[in-house]
Amino acid sequence: MARVAIVTGGTRGIGEAISLALKDRGHNVVANYAGNDEKAKAFTERTGIPAYRWDVGDHEACLDGCARVAEEIGPVDVVINNAGITRDGVLHKMSFDDWNEVMRINLGGCFNMAKATFPGMRERGWGRIVNIGSINGQAGQYGQVNYAAAKSGIHGFTKALAQEGAKYGVTVNAIAPGYIDTDMVAAVPPPVLEKIVAKIPVGRLGHAYEIARGCAFLCSENAAFVTGSTLSINGGQHMY
Ligand code: NDP
Repeated sequence: MARVAIVTGGTRGIGEAISLALKDRGHNVVANYAGNDEKAKAFTERTGIPAYRWDVGDHEACLDGCARVAEEIGPVDVVINNAGITRDGVLHKMSFDDWNEVMRINLGGCFNMAKATFPGMRERGWGRIVNIGSINGQAGQYGQVNYAAAKSGIHGFTKALAQEGAKYGVTVNAIAPGYIDTDMVAAVPPPVLEKIVAKIPVGRLGHAYEIARGCAFLCSENAAFVTGSTLSINGGQHMY
């Protein structure tokens, strides 16, 4: 059965790989994005997956965007909260805006998207929500109090919402990726990145498709008994 799936930030990086993996498994996928129209257009031309633009940090925009998807494509059964940003800096130099913006998009986006779609999943008795957290939300990271707090919040949000969905066939899980070869990691200065890779037991960055395949499993019928979990996909960099 073709389930309608929204992947936020689904037009590039890890999100693009997730959009493709879900499409390959027969889902009816919609990719959301923030503002990079050029990348979104190229993505749709390449994949045939429609791209819808809205800011996941904007509550009303999420309600409107998800309502539009439901009307134009069908009721939303699967949501991947993947959209995320970084605004790094040590605390004594970090602005309040950098704190707020990361919380608004990375954590607020999960709440906004769940508010827009979870009630319908609950009513229909089936749903999948996968929230993309981070190794840095599990372990912390120098210069990322905003990002680590938002991602750590995602892991708590996941466990709480999983309890609300369990009786209604709605599973809620998280993935905590390690360092994955995307635009976000390309922004890390090369000497810093070298040091990071040296600490990954597998000896390399991860590939976006490695996150996507884990995500596709969590969205499948086979994962019906998996809820409130965090799947760490990090090359052995952080184990607990
Ligand atoms: P990218 O920076 O490559 O892509 C980010 C995507 O999110 C883009 O599609 C972007 O849209 C979209 N986006 C950003 N802000 C918003 C917004 N406000 N509303 C809607 N969409 C938005 O990121 P990655 O693929 O590297 O990361 C994906 C997720 O994985 C993030 O949550 C990130 O924190 C997490 N992660 C990544 C790791 C990595 O090593 N790369 C490690 C651990 C976690 P647009 O193209 O329009 O800008």
